[in-house]
Amino acid sequence: MANDKLRLFRKIIVVFLKYGITYLCQRVGALAHRWTYKEVSNPKNVVILGGSFAGIPLAKRLTETLPTGYRVVLIEKNSHFNYLFNFPRYSVLQDHEHKAFVPYTGLARGAPRGIFKIVQGLATDIGDEEVELKSGGRIRFEYLVIATGTTQNAPAQVLSTEKEDSCAELRDMQGKIRSANSIAIVGGGAVGVQLAGDIKTFYGDKRVVLVHSRDQLLPNFGKRLHSYVIDKLEHLGVAVMLGERPQLSRAAGPMSLAFKDGGSQAFDLVIPCTGQTPNSSVLSSFGPDAISMKNGRILVKPTLQVQFHDKPSSKGYHIFALGDVAETGGPKMGRAGLMQAEIVRANIASLIQGNSKLKSYDPDPLEGALKLSLGKSDCVMYMDDKEGDNFLIPVKGGKEDLQVAQAWKMLNASMGAS
Ligand SMILES: Cc1cc2nc3c(=O)[nH]c(=O)nc-3n(C[C@H](O)[C@H](O)[C@H](O)COP(=O)(O)OP(=O)(O)OC[C@H]3O[C@@H](n4cnc5c(N)ncnc54)[C@H](O)[C@@H]3O)c2cc1C
Repeated sequence: MANDKLRLFRKIIVVFLKYGITYLCQRVGALAHRWTYKEVSNPKNVVILGGSFAGIPLAKRLTETLPTGYRVVLIEKNSHFNYLFNFPRYSVLQDHEHKAFVPYTGLARGAPRGIFKIVQGLATDIGDEEVELKSGGRIRFEYLVIATGTTQNAPAQVLSTEKEDSCAELRDMQGKIRSANSIAIVGGGAVGVQLAGDIKTFYGDKRVVLVHSRDQLLPNFGKRLHSYVIDKLEHLGVAVMLGERPQLSRAAGPMSLAFKDGGSQAFDLVIPCTGQTPNSSVLSSFGPDAISMKNGRILVKPTLQVQFHDKPSSKGYHIFALGDVAETGGPKMGRAGLMQAEIVRANIASLIQGNSKLKSYDPDPLEGALKLSLGKSDCVMYMDDKEGDNFLIPVKGGKEDLQVAQAWKMLNASMGAS
């Protein structure tokens, strides 16, 4: 549709105006809060598990709004924020990987003293009043927010928790890609598509095959995006195989894929880009009934409070979940985590004030908007609308490092800080 840009502009101008005014009010409120918040010796903790696209905006907003007597404690297993959006690119492009790991040290810059604490550790269990860490430590909470996201295969994520080791993992993937002449990528979601396009544009001579189990690439989005992307990939020289769920076959060599027609193909490298496992196990002993049997996500009410069945009046009321780990009804996207964070913040504020009328989360189509790179020079923006309409806007690829500076800005960090 030729007028997609105009239609989208009309749609988002209203939203931008609304959020622009809200943002201004938030800034003024944060300034006033800085003068009124007083540090106390034994504050009650609002504990957030997970410092990523959902946990970070929530932590920031709580440092601007929590009343005296409360503070935010962010528990995160990684030493640095992992900017996942750029992992596929930095698995191919060398010498940029360090930029994907942003220090948390500036997160609460400008916030009142005593309102924020970050603890590096893995939360393993929760009780009525405290979180247990793998280190054996325990942290008490008055309110708890679970924003632990999902676990995915490399290169969508890394296994290490320290920056140096995480960079080494990405460099290891770069080395494997560099030395392989033929590469199969299994999984045609956003990660697989980005990776295939990047490998083919940075290393034009390699044979790159993208294998996907369904008939549609990027199945969480409309068919129009599929058609656009498949054209682009084929133009770049990526071979796309649809409707295939290949087995890694040892018989025909260590990196051979067996297909449904009985044939097999050998590759120097096979990269699986499939599957996401929600990190909900922290609830498995405290509230197993709040974990979906269907997909392992945490069940939540529209208020984003965890949907316990057998803890009606205990602290269960004070436990929230948001982002990719939670069954919120919204898209599994960073932008959705941002919007949900404001609902959780407002509801915690209401509960602290003794007000039981809470806000409900109602996803906006904008939260599901995708910006997908298709090789080093091209990108596409896509959004499905509520009315069955959609928007597809091709854009230029931008910088090679994919505008990573915006992640550093989000964490108030100076690029290059360790
Ligand atoms: C390659 C790629 C590109 C993407 N592009 C986009 C895009 O363009 N736009 C968009 O909106 N979305 C995009 N997404 C999706 C987006 O990244 C996710 O929706 C988002 O990361 C979800 O955020 P989250 O905070 O819920 O969870 P996560 O990002 O998964 O973060 C969870 C955090 O919790 C921590 N954690 C987990 N368990 C524990 C524990 N037990 N104790 C302590 N800490 C723990 C983890 O270390 C992590 O920091 C992309 C995803 C990928 C992989």
